[in-house]
This record gives sequence, structure tokens and C-alpha cells, in this order.
Amino acid sequence: MSNDFSVDAEWDKLYIGGEWTESESGETIPNEDPSTREVFTEVAAATEADVDAAYEAAAAAQEEWADAPPARRQAVVEQFDEAVQNHRDEIIELLAHEVGGSAIMGETSIQIAGDHASEAATLPRRMKGEHVTSNIPGKENLVQREPKGVVTVISPWNFPLNLSMRAVAPAIAAGNAVVLKPSTESPITGGLLFAKLFEETDIPDGLVNVVTGRGSEIGDHIASHPESDVVSFTGSTEVGQHVAGLAGENLAVPAMELGGNNAFVVTDDADLDRALDGATFGSFVHQGQVCISINRHIVHEDVYDEYVERLTERAESLPLGSAHDDDTIVGPIVNESQRDEMLDYVERTVEQGATLETGGETADLDGVDDSLVVKPTVLSGVTNDMAAACNEHFGPIAPVIPFSDVDEAVELANATEYGLSGAVHSGDLEVAKDIADRMETGNVHINDQPINDEAHVPFSGIGASGVGTYNSDAFLHEITETKWISIQHDAREYPF
Ligand code: NAD
Repeated sequence: MSNDFSVDAEWDKLYIGGEWTESESGETIPNEDPSTREVFTEVAAATEADVDAAYEAAAAAQEEWADAPPARRQAVVEQFDEAVQNHRDEIIELLAHEVGGSAIMGETSIQIAGDHASEAATLPRRMKGEHVTSNIPGKENLVQREPKGVVTVISPWNFPLNLSMRAVAPAIAAGNAVVLKPSTESPITGGLLFAKLFEETDIPDGLVNVVTGRGSEIGDHIASHPESDVVSFTGSTEVGQHVAGLAGENLAVPAMELGGNNAFVVTDDADLDRALDGATFGSFVHQGQVCISINRHIVHEDVYDEYVERLTERAESLPLGSAHDDDTIVGPIVNESQRDEMLDYVERTVEQGATLETGGETADLDGVDDSLVVKPTVLSGVTNDMAAACNEHFGPIAPVIPFSDVDEAVELANATEYGLSGAVHSGDLEVAKDIADRMETGNVHINDQPINDEAHVPFSGIGASGVGTYNSDAFLHEITETKWISIQHDAREYPF
């Protein structure tokens, strides 16, 4: 299976212990292209026995890797980063086939994944210990940082390349082994691709293992595996809570990045041109299927009507279509159930009294039965309790909620169990900073939109949006242990 990264390559094996192997059951799962609705390949459905084999290989390989010098680990991650760049066109093509990623989504994925890989390559030389003065006479305290062991990575389908990357690359760099389980919607770009890319490096066999399969069949076995020391999970809050419980029972560290309901606050003195640029990108890029997309627009009543009118014009101007068409901005939703759920939120929001300004239905695609492309949708007269506002709609949907003063804007923004990302547009930076301080989220961006990820900047969700922090030293701490070694140089006086 190595070296062919094309859509037509064989993708129906698991990668365990450096070998491409059939699943024990021989069963496969179809992989549908959301633009054409055609199955373009099949992937293996791993069994619990396959999962056990993956952990066994990982645990065995990790022992030696933990002792590999920093320069060796750095070199492997740099080679991996280079492999990503060398195969960028094939990867973008795979993202379009597998998850309906437009050219912008593909390019962005490569850019962010590259950022995470190159940041991870610096970690081996940054795993520093400490020398801490002791209260006990004649004692020397050393604190070492060591890899945890085996890091389980469970990733979602929406931005599969970089969401797997942000855990896999640092884990390997820090001296761990990995068992990677991608979503069944993105088994290649969130999983199998990593095995092929690592095959182009000098990584020892067994350090990276990829098991494709249904979360409902092998998920619990993975999340609770006794060989797993960290469970890095990105996905929905519902599944994440369950997975964190299983990881906790096993005393594995849960690093959970979950759902969001991100607010985009626009005050009356905001630069509306800039706000609308951010609003259009933050709501509609990758069809709104980003955990840090704008879920709710919270807009001052004095600029509300103009904002709704101009956002509607912008939504209607976006080119829709197949992810394989270079001009497409808004491509297909990943699958039928996601599409139906978001359209249901829109319908219910209108029933609850909102006005549908535009969208709210699928767009026809030439030659495709039952298209998955949803027209960019703007809803006005929305309140926080309406379906498209109180749920993570995960679609190209912009519910716009009015407010009359800053306190109300903050109250509306915070009226959700989630706390992932957000943004504030204001002409007064003091006001914007005050709102950002009061917004209960892990990330807030002033005079921008909420979709930001930089590998050297800590990224976390609070409340129902997660536990733990990704990126930079923060994630290094999740995937490493500290170990205290003391040396009693002089004879110590004990009480007896
Ligand atoms: P999901 O929760 O349905 O699935 C995530 C992963 O969990 C998949 O690989 C799935 O196969 C696996 N899984 C399912 N059941 C499992 C089980 N019992 N045990 C172990 N694993 C199991 O999420 P999704 O639909 O793939 O992704 C969309 C969700 O992810 C949205 O809620 C979005 O907000 C969230 N997300 C969060 C972030 C973040 O950084 N906070 C980033 C991207 C996506």
C-alpha cells in the first residue's frame, strides 16, 4: 500500500506494527464522496483483536523510542512534515473526495497541519527538566520530563488532517507511540494517510498504528484500553463525555476538545465592512462544519437591519457546488444525516418565529441525486432559545440575534454550556477587550472571526467544550510526565 497517495490507491488495510494488514473480520466500510454521492473506496473495519494488536505493537515500540535522542525524534518529525508538503496536491484531492473539502479547505488543512508538524519538531529539544532547591540539607532535587507511553488519538471528520496532526505529531516528537482511530467519514485523511506519510520517514515500526472502524464497534475498547496512557479526543461533547469516562476509569489522561456554540458579537460602532468579511468567512467556510465556526451572530440593534441585509447579500453571492470544482466556496455537507439535522434546526427556528432571509434548502448539483449542498442560510429575529441558536448546528447557517447594550451581549454570548471560541467587533478596543474578558470561552478574537489555530498558541475549550489544552508547551504537558529524582548527597538526620 505504500507510496500511492491517490484516490484510487488501496485503502482497505489497517496499519499495525509497521505492516499493512487486513482486518481480522475481513469486513470493510464504504467511503462516499459527498459531492458525487458515489462510493470511491472501502476501508477496513477493525475488530477488538486488531485494536489489541495495535496497542501491543505501540507499547513494544515505545520503550526504545523514549530513549531516542532529541535530534533523532526531531529528524523524524521534520521528515514527516516534508512528506506532508511533498504530497500536498494528493492530500487536497483526498480531502475533496472524502469530506467534501473545497480548495480553500484543502489549502488551509495543509497550512495548519504543516504548522503543527513544524511546531512538534521543536518539542524534543524543549522537553526540559528542572533543578529545584531542597529544604532538606544535602539533598539535590531533579525533575525530569518523560513521555507518557502510548497516546490514543481519536479524531473527527470535519478537519481530519490537522485535527489528527495536532495530537499525532507532538506525541511522536515527545517520545510516545500512537494508536490513531479516525472517524468513519475520514478514515484516510484523518488516519491511513498518516501511516503512508510516516513510511517516508525513518520512524521505527510500531510507533504509529492506524485502526479504521466504527466508533460504535471498537470505540469503547480503544478509549478504555489498558495500554493507553493518554486519550486525545476531538469530537462531539456527547461522545467525548463517554470517552473521558472510559479513559478516567483506566486512569489515562483525557485530553478532550469538544463541541462549540461560538458567538460573534458586533457592537454599534464596529467597522461593518470588516465585521461582515469576518462574519461571512466565519459562518460559511467549509460549510460551517468547523468546531470554531460562528454559531450565533449577536448584533447591536442600531446596526442590526443593515447587518442582516448585507450578510444576506454576501451569503447569496457565494459560489456553491461540488468540492471538485475549483471555484466552489460552499461545497457539500459531509453526509445525509448531518444535512438533515441542520435543515431541521432551520425549519424549527422558523416555526419558533424567526425569519428565513435566505437559504434553508439544498442546492441542486448536476447529475447528483439528493445533493448534500446546503445553501448559505441567514436567519433574523432569532432568540437564544431557538433551535439553530441553542444547538451546535454545524452548517452554513447564520442565526442573527439583536442586543441593546454590552451587558446583554455578554449575557447572550454566555448563555450556553459550551465555551470554545468567539469573536468581538467593536470600534473601541477597550470595550472589545472588556467583552472578550467577560466571554466564557477558551479563545476569543477581537476584530476577527473565531476560526483561528496557531500551533504555538495554547488552544482549549472550557465547560462542555473540553478538558485540557492543545498546542505548544500546553499539550507537551498533557503527553509527558514529570519525574522527581532526589539525591541525598550528605547523610541525612532521621528522627529515629
Ligand atoms: P463524533 O463525536 O461523532 O466522533 C468523533 C470520533 O469519535 C470519531 O472518530 C468517532 O468514530 C469516534 N467515536 C464514536 N463513538 C465512540 C466511542 N464510543 N468510543 C470512542 N470513540 C468513538 O464527532 P464528529 O461528528 O466526528 O465531529 C464533529 C464534532 O466534533 C462537533 O461537535 C465539533 O464541534 C467537534 N469538534 C471539536 C473540535 C475542537 O477542537 N474542540 C474540533 C473539531 C470538531
